[in-house]
Amino acid sequence: MNNLSHHTEHVPVLIVGGSLVGLSAALFLAWRGVPCLLVERHVGTSPFARAGGFNPRTLEIYRSVGLEPAIREAAPIEFSGMKIISVETLAGKELGTFLENTSSYTMSASPVAGSIITQDILEPLLRKHACALGADLRFATECVTFEQDSEGVSALIRDLASGKEQHVSADYLIAADGNLSPIRQKLGIRVQGPGMLAHQMNIRFQADLRAPLRGRRLLVYYVTSVQGLCAGNERGGFLSIPYDPEKESEQDFRGPRGIEAVRAAIGVPDLDVKIQDVLSWEMADWLADRFHLDRVFLVGDAAHVVPPTGAYGANTGIADAHNLAWKLALVLQGKAGAGLLATYEHERRAAARLAVEQAFLNYIERLHPDISAQPDIEKTAYDIPIFGYLYHSRAVLSEDNATYEDPQSPSGKPGARAPHVALERAGRSLSTLDLFGHDFVLLSGRGGSAWCDAAADVAKSLDIALPIYRVDSDVVDVEQRFSRIYGISKTGATLVRPDGFIAWRAYEGSPQARQELELVLTQILAR
Ligand SMILES: Cc1cc2nc3c(=O)[nH]c(=O)nc-3n(C[C@H](O)[C@H](O)[C@H](O)COP(=O)(O)OP(=O)(O)OC[C@H]3O[C@@H](n4cnc5c(N)ncnc54)[C@H](O)[C@@H]3O)c2cc1C
Repeated sequence: MNNLSHHTEHVPVLIVGGSLVGLSAALFLAWRGVPCLLVERHVGTSPFARAGGFNPRTLEIYRSVGLEPAIREAAPIEFSGMKIISVETLAGKELGTFLENTSSYTMSASPVAGSIITQDILEPLLRKHACALGADLRFATECVTFEQDSEGVSALIRDLASGKEQHVSADYLIAADGNLSPIRQKLGIRVQGPGMLAHQMNIRFQADLRAPLRGRRLLVYYVTSVQGLCAGNERGGFLSIPYDPEKESEQDFRGPRGIEAVRAAIGVPDLDVKIQDVLSWEMADWLADRFHLDRVFLVGDAAHVVPPTGAYGANTGIADAHNLAWKLALVLQGKAGAGLLATYEHERRAAARLAVEQAFLNYIERLHPDISAQPDIEKTAYDIPIFGYLYHSRAVLSEDNATYEDPQSPSGKPGARAPHVALERAGRSLSTLDLFGHDFVLLSGRGGSAWCDAAADVAKSLDIALPIYRVDSDVVDVEQRFSRIYGISKTGATLVRPDGFIAWRAYEGSPQARQELELVLTQILAR
């Protein structure tokens, strides 16, 4: 029987991979009204907890597409009030604290708190919301192969239940197919960085940990004596430790070897341990050389992999998808030229590089304090790969070459995430962040009417949506911080992109406001 359908389906965007990042990409595209088809070879979302720390920037992003309330409601209460620490063994000496309290997963740069919600709970929410917005999500379906040319992408997909195959044509392909990314490999894109750090064995176990926990509520504890990390509660959890695949196998860790490893990490030699399950994986740290090739874009672990020391992995991937979605939407709607898509790689690769580097330094600090030779990488504050990186591309009119800045002292310069300033509108409190998300936005000072008039004019001639807000006229600058934080005078203006990053600013008014703004927008939109 021929299992190949002769019908070729067309979609603007095909997404391969339906885990955290692929599902986020589908959600962001669907929210913008871009039809997309996602294929995921697993029958459903992941049953494994894996990622659990979603930082305030990720929650800002999810808030902008209306997902925040569902996340707050679903986040397990048992994860609140916990710490992330480093220990010699659980029963032994505490060496350091990385997060004091999971209930206050906040950063001063944002009015939005992060969330401790595990992947197995978050993915179904992403799936439900993306579906509700019209994304076509097909599980138990794999992408068998693909080709691209100047006209588009053509892929062969297979329904794994029926074996039925079908050709799909798409304008663009998003590879959210994970660290092994067959798509990246087929494109011949290489990766660079420290590479494989360790073969890891995850051991899920039951044991009475009440005594070694000593009443502490720990979300994660790094155990330096076994170079591992552990998560769980008083009844057990999972331990992840390095192992040598030449000498040991998953089977060994199901028996005495697993029990011995758990006892060593907990620091109780005669602990009664029951092994429930084991899973081997590779801990790595690398960055792909390219994030896109013609019509194919790599996002998430397909583009960068970090060790789980800092919770940068999924968060960085979700930011990739967010950066790409508005660009694809504008190009597919004919409002921007395809050149806008090239800025995805310039912007996200530099941001991901920071995450890759800082996660590696954290890996040494938390799991290998014994390594004395420090790599030649500058240690930044924890929030730099989250809020501090600065984009440089044709979609930003940069003022300098800085790669990051302290998000606690924002400069308001182009390339930075547009900072939070408390506002009020019609007696209601809001943040500048609530003004951004869908379209470009022009913010001006109280005396910036020339920029506002110019923006209205340019938006009309370019046929784009461009909401305009005059601070202290349309919105009230409650703490009178706007001018200082955005670095513009009362007659100046700032242009914020749909992803909430500053594209351009003018310190003061200009007699050529219309021409200047038109030049800026035509450059950004690659028109
Ligand atoms: C122990 C641990 C803890 C972590 N904790 C955190 C944390 O707290 N915070 C954080 O931000 N990150 C964390 N991470 C990292 C995070 O889990 C990953 O970065 C993230 O899951 C990557 O998501 P992804 O969607 O890019 O790739 P993946 O999750 O690898 O998904 C790729 C998907 O593509 C599918 N696929 C591949 N090829 C095909 C094909 N041809 N056809 C159809 N489907 C295909 C696969 O089935 C898979 O579902 C942690 C990781 C580990 C291991």
